[in-house]
Amino acid sequence: MNSFLRCLSCHAVYAINEPIWKCACGGLLDIKVDFSGTKQWETVKFPGLWKYLPFIPLPDKSIIITLGEGQTPIIRYLYENQEILIKQEQLFPTGSYKDRGAAVMISAIKAMGIRSVVEDSSGNAGCSVAAYCAKAGIDCSIYVPASTSRAKLMQISAYGARVVKVEGTREDTARMVLSAASQNYYASHSWNPFFFQGTKTFAYEVWEQTEGKLPDAIILPVGNGTLFLGVYKGFHDLLSIGLIEKIPRMVGVQASLCAPLSHWEKLDFGGIPIDVNTIAEGIAIQKPVRGAQIIEALHQTHGMILEVEEEEIEMALRLAVEQGFFVEPTGVVGLAGTIQYLKRFSEVGKVLTAFTGHGLKSPEKILSVLSH
Ligand SMILES: *Cc1c(COP(=O)(O)O)cnc(C)c1O
Ligand SMILES: [Zn+2]
Repeated sequence: MNSFLRCLSCHAVYAINEPIWKCACGGLLDIKVDFSGTKQWETVKFPGLWKYLPFIPLPDKSIIITLGEGQTPIIRYLYENQEILIKQEQLFPTGSYKDRGAAVMISAIKAMGIRSVVEDSSGNAGCSVAAYCAKAGIDCSIYVPASTSRAKLMQISAYGARVVKVEGTREDTARMVLSAASQNYYASHSWNPFFFQGTKTFAYEVWEQTEGKLPDAIILPVGNGTLFLGVYKGFHDLLSIGLIEKIPRMVGVQASLCAPLSHWEKLDFGGIPIDVNTIAEGIAIQKPVRGAQIIEALHQTHGMILEVEEEEIEMALRLAVEQGFFVEPTGVVGLAGTIQYLKRFSEVGKVLTAFTGHGLKSPEKILSVLSH
């Protein structure tokens, strides 16, 4: 048996090298990974996240597009005498953890012989896809909301990608790219199943770095859930291989101004007033395409969604820079949520969060927060 693509809606299956990003029925694809060749832990001597190559499904494992991503450190942080573990996911070639997903996704796309892709992003995913496309020699257009941070736009064009600015919301950008995707392959961080095969390596690293003594709760920012779902998937792999007995409690953090996942069951996003003008621009997603999967991960792990106010994000940003961590506002949402979690609940056990994007992504926003 080999790994294959599978539709989450109609359960149709496709070969791993099929150049599609959604099912013929319109449904989301997932990858059913075959672990039969790797029943125990088996890594290879490749740099960064590629040491986990035996567990990463690809159309051709000899084609790897890498910029040296992965194996980020976990730093202990003390908040009022409580220890918080913070994985430094801002320390990536393009400045965000999105490189985990882009490295694996663009490797797969290169192996499929695809020469041109489109992607939409509020910034960081665009930077990652543009960088790995440059390395792979793939033509790339990135659709961004016109309000995206200047530094991110400049970074995307520096890699040689075409930047298409779209007026309106993040969802307007998503609509625009979908029409472009009918002619080009859609290298989407939310739709493309290979992306999550990259972000899942976060969980493998945490398991190795904590020597199997996993945190009790993993607290992460969630918009489309590309990190959150990847991490859940990674732990799920470790569970299926028999290396862990339980997946840590998965806690998602959203900005109160844009927190559709808190309302998922009641309203299914219909008619929720959402203000996307949060300083956490990277997670201002009104309709996460994999929302149902995120809710499933919450149910499976007794997890929850926390909402943080703008003031809590600003406070977390101050706490980070005070200690020398230069992180963009979206990148401290996990810390803001973790502080709220520690305040609201007792006996929380060991908690781990992540800084998800580098401060150089939006220095202006950071300075404006620190100056008032
Ligand atoms: C992409 C991103 C996230 C998580 O966003 P999702 O929409 O859940 O994938 C968090 N922080 C930063 C800095 C990001 O770029
Ligand atoms: Zn289908």
